[in-house]
Amino acid sequence: MAKPRVVILGGGFGGLATAEALGHDADITVIDRNNYQTFLPLLYQVATAGIAADHIAYPIRGALRKTGGRFHMGSPISIDHKNKTVKLDSSEVIPFDHLVIAMGSVTADFGIPGVHEFGLGMKSIHESLMIRSEIMRRYEDLCRFQDDTRLKVVVVGGGPTGVEMAGALGELIKGPLHHDQAEAASNIDVYLVEAGARVLPMFDQSLTDKAQKELEKLGVNLMLKSAVKSLEFGQINFADGSSMRAHVMVWAAGVTSSPAIYDLSVPTEGFRLKTEQTMQITNYPYIWAVGDCAGARGSNGRFLPQVAPVAMQQGRFVADQIRRVSKGQALKEFLYKDKGSMATIGRHKAIIQVKKLKISGPIAWFGWLFLHLFYLMGGRNRIGTIADWSWNYLTFDRGNRHIMDSL
Ligand SMILES: Cc1cc2nc3c(=O)[nH]c(=O)nc-3n(C[C@H](O)[C@H](O)[C@H](O)COP(=O)(O)OP(=O)(O)OC[C@H]3O[C@@H](n4cnc5c(N)ncnc54)[C@H](O)[C@@H]3O)c2cc1C
Repeated sequence: MAKPRVVILGGGFGGLATAEALGHDADITVIDRNNYQTFLPLLYQVATAGIAADHIAYPIRGALRKTGGRFHMGSPISIDHKNKTVKLDSSEVIPFDHLVIAMGSVTADFGIPGVHEFGLGMKSIHESLMIRSEIMRRYEDLCRFQDDTRLKVVVVGGGPTGVEMAGALGELIKGPLHHDQAEAASNIDVYLVEAGARVLPMFDQSLTDKAQKELEKLGVNLMLKSAVKSLEFGQINFADGSSMRAHVMVWAAGVTSSPAIYDLSVPTEGFRLKTEQTMQITNYPYIWAVGDCAGARGSNGRFLPQVAPVAMQQGRFVADQIRRVSKGQALKEFLYKDKGSMATIGRHKAIIQVKKLKISGPIAWFGWLFLHLFYLMGGRNRIGTIADWSWNYLTFDRGNRHIMDSL
């Protein structure tokens, strides 16, 4: 029997999990605008000089080697449903029996004016390097002028990404930047802005309290119940009418599906692909959705969270579903197995919650390090990351604080 032709749009967590799980049971083609997978959970460490950027990028062709799959660099621009083909921006037309849409998400501005113009998103290696350069360039200005100018770095969003970013910034300033030029470092203020009453609302209140305390120890100013109304050049405006000067504004307040899904003539619902619990797109049984752009729901009836374990579990599940279709077997419904949440605040400081089990402190921190290394793709990347982390740990330094976005 001929193998089904499976075309996967997006070579991120979900797309590559699908390809790996299908292995040699399908004729696989992965399409992505980048020729590498980005390990998004460590972007904040690139942005704060903790690790080198290339440690969190893995070549998609390398990931596909075991499956015998092909890779096309490009973006889909349309689907021909009658002939079951997808057209790329290169004008290539690729036929499929099954199409898997796993194109992830982009920074969400929630309609707030100025976010895209004045905020720095953190959804790609390029954006992380821009944040790093912006902070380091402003720091160099502080070192040069040596006056009482204060540099305000504001992180918006009190979820794990915002908390990790703010904590890592606090460590960068208190450690390496302080050692380089103490006066300049003491003129930098870090703010973490959150609309809700607390950071990390997905964790138990006791873990949030610990995280907030650790952030404050690192010099992070917490601004809770502070909904952002708009961003403008050098300023952040709040819903209560107040404003604050802000020189660097990192937007970590949330994500929404990749806008590319709206070009594919498939149904959408609530900014996601309209998806059955079988992970098929409604009315299109040969098209599957995986990861951040998929509209599958949890037992509470709400969309599943846009996190890597959901994308990977859905990828493996869709691979099994495609096998079931090939064998003429009945399809199953996707059920997410939530293995818990974790976030790190800094050296020896992290929190983990697995159902009722709550862990914090060094054990949680080592657990966080181990799991991130485990899921990072590629031996070279793991060795590079261990080298950077060990260097940072032993020397209290950060070797990657270069400004590399200019000639
Ligand atoms: C800063 C940050 C930190 C995070 N931290 C965590 C964490 O600690 N733990 C956790 O579980 N989750 C974390 N997440 C979320 C997690 O990374 C996502 O849920 C996961 O990547 C979703 O997988 P995916 O396959 O749906 O999308 P992705 O992994 O984003 O892959 C999507 C792929 O599609 C490609 N693509 C998109 N649009 C196009 C297009 N038009 N043409 C061609 N290719 C396209 C992209 O290049 C990308 O390779 C974090 C996310 C961010 C942004």
